[in-house]
Amino acid sequence: MIELKNKEQLDRMRTASRIVAEVLEIMKEMVKPGVTTEQLDRSAEQHILKYGALPAFKGYNGFPATLCTSVNEEVVHGIPGLRALRNGDIISIDCGAIYDGYVGDSAITLPVGEISEECYKLLAVCEESLKLGIVKARKGNRLFDISHTVQSYVEKNGMSVVRDYVGHGIGRRMHEEPQIPNFGKPGRGPRLEIGMALAIEPMVNLGGYQVESLEDGWTVVTKDRRASAHFEHTVAITENGPEILTRI
Ligand code: MG
Ligand code: MG
Repeated sequence: MIELKNKEQLDRMRTASRIVAEVLEIMKEMVKPGVTTEQLDRSAEQHILKYGALPAFKGYNGFPATLCTSVNEEVVHGIPGLRALRNGDIISIDCGAIYDGYVGDSAITLPVGEISEECYKLLAVCEESLKLGIVKARKGNRLFDISHTVQSYVEKNGMSVVRDYVGHGIGRRMHEEPQIPNFGKPGRGPRLEIGMALAIEPMVNLGGYQVESLEDGWTVVTKDRRASAHFEHTVAITENGPEILTRI
């Protein structure tokens, strides 16, 4: 069942989401050659705790950190550590926070210094596919209208969408129904209603869509080891259309 959120619940989600958005703004300032993913993680955690909020990922199924930091061919769920970012890398940073029992979840992919033209295009296509998908998050549409919009834009640009990981409903729990694939046929899936809260999160690969997990049990990488990007917003469906909660 897809839980519909009332105004009070959405207000709590707005606060959780704003905290996440602030963390990602801080990351934009911090990401540069030489910084380690662990330093990013520490700053993110401090910022969340400052509000009396909690990092949503830490301890989730045993995940050890506040952020997921996924560099280059890493798609999602990379674990922060001693790795120092290098000029030309791209880094996907995924962050979740829990405030007053409700979760916000958002991700961005950032360039480190100067990046290749194809990586620059990868980031632009992934971010734009999210924007286009969000436009479809309105009452009366079907869930897979979002999925189809993301997929067609990405594939039109010669890239692929990851199949094995998907977006999700969000609220009291980070992962609620429905699952939101980044591929699918338009006009299918549940009818979208006012009060739904959705984490829409295209994961886009420069090469093939296939992915695999590394031995650490978390980090997901592209099978062909080509670069991957990830953008995500927590979005509420309101009378006035989609409201992006994870935005300052
Ligand atoms: Mg996320
Ligand atoms: Mg998510």
